[in-house]
Amino acid sequence: MPVATSLDRDDELDAALAAGLADGVEALCRAQAIADDDAAAPARRACAWALGALVQYRDATVDDADASLSRALLMAGPAPPPRLRDLLEHVQAQRTRRLGQLTESQERLLALHRRADRRPDADAYLTAAALGIVESMLGRAEAALDALYQALHLARRTGLDSLVVNALSNLGSYESDLYNLEDAQLLLEEAVAGACRLESRRLRIFAAGNLVQCLCLRGEPVRALAVAREHLIPQIREDDPPALQRDDEIAMALLANGLIDEADALLARELYSGALTNELATARVTLIGKIRLARDDPAGALAMCLERRVVLAAGGEQVSLPIDQVELLRTASSAAAAVGDPAQAHALLQEAFALYEDLLGRAARSRRLSLQIAHRLRQAEWERDSARQMATALEGLNASLRAEAEENERLKRQLMAHALEDPLTGLPNRRHLFEAGARLLMAQRRRGGSVAAALIDLDHFKQVNDRHGHDAGDTVLRRFAALLQRQTRAGDIACRYGGEEFVLLMADASAAQAAQRLRLLLVQFRAIVFEGRASAYTSAFSAGTATWLGDHETLEGLLQRADAALYAAKAAGRARVMMADEAAAAPG
Ligand code: GH3
Ligand code: MG
Ligand code: MG
Repeated sequence: MPVATSLDRDDELDAALAAGLADGVEALCRAQAIADDDAAAPARRACAWALGALVQYRDATVDDADASLSRALLMAGPAPPPRLRDLLEHVQAQRTRRLGQLTESQERLLALHRRADRRPDADAYLTAAALGIVESMLGRAEAALDALYQALHLARRTGLDSLVVNALSNLGSYESDLYNLEDAQLLLEEAVAGACRLESRRLRIFAAGNLVQCLCLRGEPVRALAVAREHLIPQIREDDPPALQRDDEIAMALLANGLIDEADALLARELYSGALTNELATARVTLIGKIRLARDDPAGALAMCLERRVVLAAGGEQVSLPIDQVELLRTASSAAAAVGDPAQAHALLQEAFALYEDLLGRAARSRRLSLQIAHRLRQAEWERDSARQMATALEGLNASLRAEAEENERLKRQLMAHALEDPLTGLPNRRHLFEAGARLLMAQRRRGGSVAAALIDLDHFKQVNDRHGHDAGDTVLRRFAALLQRQTRAGDIACRYGGEEFVLLMADASAAQAAQRLRLLLVQFRAIVFEGRASAYTSAFSAGTATWLGDHETLEGLLQRADAALYAAKAAGRARVMMADEAAAAPG
């Protein structure tokens, strides 16, 4: 057992709190040593019991933790010093959270949080962090973000690295839940690096687990698995408590890389006693559903996903993450398609897309909110120090306002880009096509230039989804989009028109040149080999081209003629390009 610090001084208590976050077991041993020391002052021993309870409410059973808390309260007596009194109140709030009484926990934490200015930074940090987590469990995104940012701010003020890493990890995890994946990845990478520097296994597992999930959501399965292999798999031991196990995150990375057997073996382990929380259960059901699908049991996959959907629809105090619900619905849709129920598959996918759009809206809001909070915190900090450092603070504020203005600009550009960009492929979307296309026609009219349009539709794309799953379908769409983008010249406009349909507008191209370019694209696309579940496969597309008839034809009219040619190309056997006049001449 390590030699105990005495907890005599405030900074020793700070260090003990930090150690509790970095390494639960060691902190527990230290706290135990002081708590058992009959020679120590009662207030100090009460503090040690309280610290022990804090770690136990997190990592151990409620009974153990309750026993420690009772000892702490007993030893603290009726009139404990203010810091101890608040610490005990904090531990009690954590107890109610652990018991699932979220609203009560939130009220207690809020009352403590309002006194943050009068408490030591490390204690105020603990409360802000806990409040952020409770608010997020209650589904109150804005309040949660607010608390988590304040926690990060407080952690930085203490100068204690393990508090900072813990704060980064919490915040990154939550930004990821809100689908603000870009910011989440940065926060989590910083947290993983910090945890490695601190050599804290616990913080490393927490941050890396969140990072793996974030990378999977960002569509970076290879990096996700690399992080899991470096920071999770060799670190986690079989006998670690459930709070340190990361089976779901590792399985998610394995599955995303097509390693079905390994994922299956991992999830078959029975580590969790008791019921899973709503949040965990949805992600877990999705993972197992995906495995069943891969194992040719779509009916089983569909049944379990639908059952879960019913539970979610019934609601409850703990809300499930929207992103988990999207994944659940997409998996259910793939399963419905695989059992031969396209109508249900379609309905489920529609539901998933609606939720997904909602999620993108939340991500944009969370980004805006994050900025506002950061600004307000800087302001408060400045007011605090203004008497001392008026000149430097002014300078700093100027710089931060400048940075803020730049950041706002960047954000505005990003939001604009998102409104005109298809999130899956990064290509411009239909809305952009009609805006930029109208401008192109106008410019070509002035110059007397020509415009050719191609409407492209992937062949038998539904079969890719049915045979290899939705993720595989998404991959094909992304690969095709990347190829299309590479073939786009200055002045051309490429976009994702809808589902598996794309449009390319070519400036100054004749009908024959346009068809020639599309045929080249078709050859390149057919040459791509995709790794499927059971076998490798290739894909193809059909396309129709048309040239603009000039002045009196609208963009819609031009696209309609290209669509008719596309229809003819499909009818003629697919995997080909037809020109509008050739299509008109074709029989049928
Ligand atoms: P055809 O050769 O006649 O075009 O057959 P098809 O299977 O390509 O056409 P169909 O219109 O029947 O199916 C298109 C499918 O594309 C149905 C839909 O589920 C799927 N899809 C649409 N958007 C997405 C997406 O973003 N991701 C995935 N994976 N699939 C999508
Ligand atoms: Mg289609
Ligand atoms: Mg198609």
